[in-house]
Amino acid sequence: DFENRFDLPHLRDVFDIKPMPTTFSLHNRGSQIVSGADLPEDRKNGYVNDDDRALLKVIKYSSPTSAGAECIDADCSWVEQWVHRAGPRKQIYFEPEKVNAGIVTCGGLCPGLNDVIRQIVFTLELYGVKKIIGIPFGYRGFFDQGLPEIPLSRNVVQNINLAGGSLLGVSRGGANVSEIVDSIQARGIDMLFILGGNGTHAGANAIHNECHKRKMKVSVVCVPKTIDNDILLMDKTFGFDTSVEEAQRAINSAYIEAHSAYHGIGLVKLMGRSSGFIAMHASLSSGQIDVCLIPEVPFKLDGPYGVLQHLEHLIETKGSAVVCVAEGAGQDMLEKSNATDASGNVVLGDIGVHIQQRIKRHFKEVGVPADVKYIDPTYMIRACRPNASDAILCTVLGQNAVHGAFAGYSGITVGICNTHYVYLPIPEVIASPRTVDPNSRMWHRCLTSTGQPDFM
Ligand code: ATP
Ligand code: MG
Repeated sequence: DFENRFDLPHLRDVFDIKPMPTTFSLHNRGSQIVSGADLPEDRKNGYVNDDDRALLKVIKYSSPTSAGAECIDADCSWVEQWVHRAGPRKQIYFEPEKVNAGIVTCGGLCPGLNDVIRQIVFTLELYGVKKIIGIPFGYRGFFDQGLPEIPLSRNVVQNINLAGGSLLGVSRGGANVSEIVDSIQARGIDMLFILGGNGTHAGANAIHNECHKRKMKVSVVCVPKTIDNDILLMDKTFGFDTSVEEAQRAINSAYIEAHSAYHGIGLVKLMGRSSGFIAMHASLSSGQIDVCLIPEVPFKLDGPYGVLQHLEHLIETKGSAVVCVAEGAGQDMLEKSNATDASGNVVLGDIGVHIQQRIKRHFKEVGVPADVKYIDPTYMIRACRPNASDAILCTVLGQNAVHGAFAGYSGITVGICNTHYVYLPIPEVIASPRTVDPNSRMWHRCLTSTGQPDFM
């Protein structure tokens, strides 16, 4: 049902509630800085109408044979899809003075978490919210009695964006939805902001459903936190740009090492469990990568047209080579383990170490000297503070999360789609991880840039 696909769950669907005029105003302190004599007052305040929509895709393919064509059906007929615009509403569904807001950060670290927390707190206070708490160490903080909640205010969060990490701490696992909702109830939280990836969003949606089942008027709003950029429909998620930028430092070091050594081969492992966006973008942006390996594109190491033979060719012709591999790539060539992390994610085999050993062995076997340098910058990247563009993205997303909660939505997430800031129903964005389409133009550009063949 394309017409209603992106409709948002709203508290008034479940509760008999009436809206009230918003307390959020851009010139509520008597200031005249927001001018524009003839503009309607609502527009000067920046209010977004509930009925506003942004168009999800602005390209129309004339044929399924067009490069990168994404078609709804065989003859590429077109269906317009509209998503809800994010932003402050003129009417709100919570009395700010009585709001009890909670913020929690789950999963792994990602540049920008503190920036989002900070903006959520600032914006809540602008509405007039008095009680804001941080739940420590992810979902665990809801029921681990030894972990006290963290009172938040403008003063507390003022400078937290100057460092990476999360003021609140993060964790994996421990998501018993019923216990979490018990804790939300006991604490009297009625607005919950949840920052996390795919797993966290699944948990948030379950929390949203459980709250409504228990007739608790709680607004659950997510901000997608995934360094891998693996959330469906979104142009990008915060932290991704920074990761790509930081990854280039590692790539540059690998390049220098490889270039300065006799028959040097630099190998860099980057994040990307099921999506190769970081590896692809870092390869594209650095321009120093000869071989980029991602989870979406199968490859072989041995034999004709294998990676190892190509490396031999590179050493012969260029004297050095640089390889970039995403952590989820080539998992089929590693021994399967049944191990899972605390959140139930399968623990991946280390493809970086595997390729490093295989390269060394191969060159020894063919009697060609090769000097392999392996770099895994994962944790250095995740702990960074965001770059300028991510910091701005965090700011917008954090503010919009608060506007979404006051607008009465629950079970939603915020994002940027097709350059517009929007709200989306959670299930739509986590139906599967967003992955690199091997037939997309960006992957084709990456291949053009590295000059690598199909390793099959
Ligand atoms: P990252 O990008 O760092 O992997 P993530 O949100 O996917 O972020 P996870 O560790 O997978 O990180 O999950 C975070 C939290 O969400 C954990 O506390 C986990 O227990 C919970 N969680 C994961 N999947 C689900 C699910 N299907 N239902 C409920 N909770 C879940
Ligand atoms: Mg995850």
